[in-house]
Amino acid sequence: MRLVTYRRADAPAPAPARAGALTDDGAHVVDLALADPTLPSDVVGLLAGGEAALDRARAVVVRPAPDALVPRAETVLDAPVPRPGKVVGIGYNYEGHDGSRGAAKPRPERPDVFVKTANTVVGPDAPVVLPRSSDSVDYEGELAVVIGTRARRVDADRALEHVAGYAVFDDVSARDWQHRGSQWALGKSFDGFGPFGPALVTADEVGDPQTLDLEVVVNGQVTARSSTARMIFPVAELVAYVSEVMTLEPGDVIATGTPQKLPEAEVARRWLAPGDRVDITISRVGTLSTPFVADAG
Ligand code: ZN
Repeated sequence: MRLVTYRRADAPAPAPARAGALTDDGAHVVDLALADPTLPSDVVGLLAGGEAALDRARAVVVRPAPDALVPRAETVLDAPVPRPGKVVGIGYNYEGHDGSRGAAKPRPERPDVFVKTANTVVGPDAPVVLPRSSDSVDYEGELAVVIGTRARRVDADRALEHVAGYAVFDDVSARDWQHRGSQWALGKSFDGFGPFGPALVTADEVGDPQTLDLEVVVNGQVTARSSTARMIFPVAELVAYVSEVMTLEPGDVIATGTPQKLPEAEVARRWLAPGDRVDITISRVGTLSTPFVADAG
């Protein structure tokens, strides 16, 4: 099931964002609470209901009532979880991407964890402002893990039971701000620096999260191509490690790190400019597309 948070495009602003699921052909959004009034009208509420709620949602997506169907073309998608309680990022989590730009460093002993604030999260196709105070904004194509049921101090071998599903995430980063101090937080947390979506694909449809192809395209040129098989710390270990410190709640997001850019993309590397578009595709999960625009002040 592909869960979305959507608004009707023609509704008066601010239209309420509601939980939906895409039909198999992607042509419609099924409004879950309209289809089954026992279902919550927001995605986090649905996740908190666990497998029982997800199964009820699956049932209505198979046979939706006509008045619960909204043509996809008449909707605007928000991020599948518009305001996660937390967004945890992982640095240097792919083989060959260690920030050294030279001789490879030895495999790290532990994940390199940072935090992005919730103001970063925006939906698919939402324009992201290149802030006036940075001249070095970069993109990072990543698999996002979305927590389903509460996870506290879980073991890696049970950790995936707490994962509701996956989406695509762009860990947009202002490199100048990221390296001004010892903490990455500000460089990672400008408004809009967390495009996320387009849908939350439930774990049953994705299967093994370490077998996904990931590709990043900027203005039509491929700049990164890898597989989640090349993660240093797999999803299960990341969930377990983070849950040792903080209780992970329904809707929380872990952005699992980006692969190294292709050598030719490193050579041609420049920072993002107004008019750029970044498309990140992960097999079985989807494509997240983000236009970047100038700061109007
Ligand atoms: Zn990242």
